[in-house]
Amino acid sequence: MSITVARPGAVQLSEFRQRVRAHIDEHAPPFAAREGRRAPGNAEQEAQLRTWFAGLFAAGFVGADWPVEYGGRPDHHPLHDRIVSEELLRARAPRPVDQVNLAAHVLLHFGSDEQKAALLPPIRRSEHVWCQLLSEPDAGSDIAGVRCRGVRRDDGSWVIDGQKTWITDGHWADMGLALIRTDPASTRHHGLSAFIVPLSAAGVQVRPIRTINEAIEVNEVFLDSVTIGPEGLIGEPGQGWSIIMAGLDFERFGIGGNVILLELLIDDLVTVARNSTLCGRPALDHDDIRQTVAELTVEVEVAKAFIDDHVERMAAGADEIGDGSIAKLSFAETYHRVSAYGTELGATVCTVAADAGVQDAKQRLRECWLWSRAYTVSGGSSEMMRNILAKRRLGLPSR
Ligand SMILES: Cc1cc2nc3c(=O)[nH]c(=O)nc-3n(C[C@H](O)[C@H](O)[C@H](O)COP(=O)(O)OP(=O)(O)OC[C@H]3O[C@@H](n4cnc5c(N)ncnc54)[C@H](O)[C@@H]3O)c2cc1C
Repeated sequence: MSITVARPGAVQLSEFRQRVRAHIDEHAPPFAAREGRRAPGNAEQEAQLRTWFAGLFAAGFVGADWPVEYGGRPDHHPLHDRIVSEELLRARAPRPVDQVNLAAHVLLHFGSDEQKAALLPPIRRSEHVWCQLLSEPDAGSDIAGVRCRGVRRDDGSWVIDGQKTWITDGHWADMGLALIRTDPASTRHHGLSAFIVPLSAAGVQVRPIRTINEAIEVNEVFLDSVTIGPEGLIGEPGQGWSIIMAGLDFERFGIGGNVILLELLIDDLVTVARNSTLCGRPALDHDDIRQTVAELTVEVEVAKAFIDDHVERMAAGADEIGDGSIAKLSFAETYHRVSAYGTELGATVCTVAADAGVQDAKQRLRECWLWSRAYTVSGGSSEMMRNILAKRRLGLPSR
């Protein structure tokens, strides 16, 4: 779909950027965003995050691409989203919850008018944080293996049973977007349906999972005879696969769009390398260190160039199958390589302990490294991205 709004000029974009910066300066919560610790740590932070997100919607910086009747901006252009994303990342301000964007995307494209009217405004007010209830213990990469089942009762309501796992933000989300098998005779991607599950519903139990970085970001969610009214079904029974897949492709591009994080990682890597010594010499005097930093910088530039190009092509209606997979793959793999090398370098070289800037850079590189496998796995693993590209983009045969 091509964008009908004219591409904003350089002056307009610069003014927009200034407005975003001013908003962040004035309203960002009093704590920095940390990789792998995106969920609030306590009730006070949760309240601050919800106020912050609601303010971003109200200012037209988030959800600007929605139809105007649901709060979008008539002059929205994808370049605006890119600027908002860049400024939030550079300011280390908390970013909108990916799962909320995904739910909004699904509701806007597949929801009924009633669902849109009931569920989109609470998203803009940040009263509803959403999570995605897709993966199960035996259905991750192979998401078509979903076993959670939904049975329709005579009154049109549904009873849902099963277990979901790795659910980001499940411990503070209000609503879940669930993929459920509603045709017991079906296999694979047939017979699946998409549901809206309030996490406060009777029979929903959320159990946090502590990850390697000692944070709570993901959860197991148990669904024990959870009753969902007919209004909780999105689209038609059996349409779940296409609904969720459309959302996942959108999510993958969103992950790749965090590409500015890579620049920040390179900044931290260079800070550590510049301000450290190894074997009595400045770290950057060592050829292998200089060369690796340069190679990683090139990788980051390539990832950024793809995203820049994709935003332009999307605006022109010329995006291609698999673009989301390329964006996610190149972001996630580069993020892992830079943070792993930065952590190793930080642990090998000597730095002045009192230099807070260097210590902070080392700490961030380490946090990013611990979190880096989350990016290469969640939203579809790197191997699955390569499979998708091989099949859909290159037309190679399946094995
Ligand atoms: C931090 C984090 C957050 C997440 N958040 C959510 C969420 O909010 N909601 C949600 O529903 N899920 C979420 N997930 C789950 C995520 O989508 C799955 O972990 C992912 O799809 C991989 O599935 P799996 O863990 O079952 O691994 P498996 O599918 O068992 O894969 C194990 C390994 O085998 C490889 N593999 C599997 N099949 C193939 C194949 N055909 N070809 C080549 N290699 C293959 C994989 O790449 C992987 O390396 C999250 C995961 C993480 C780590």
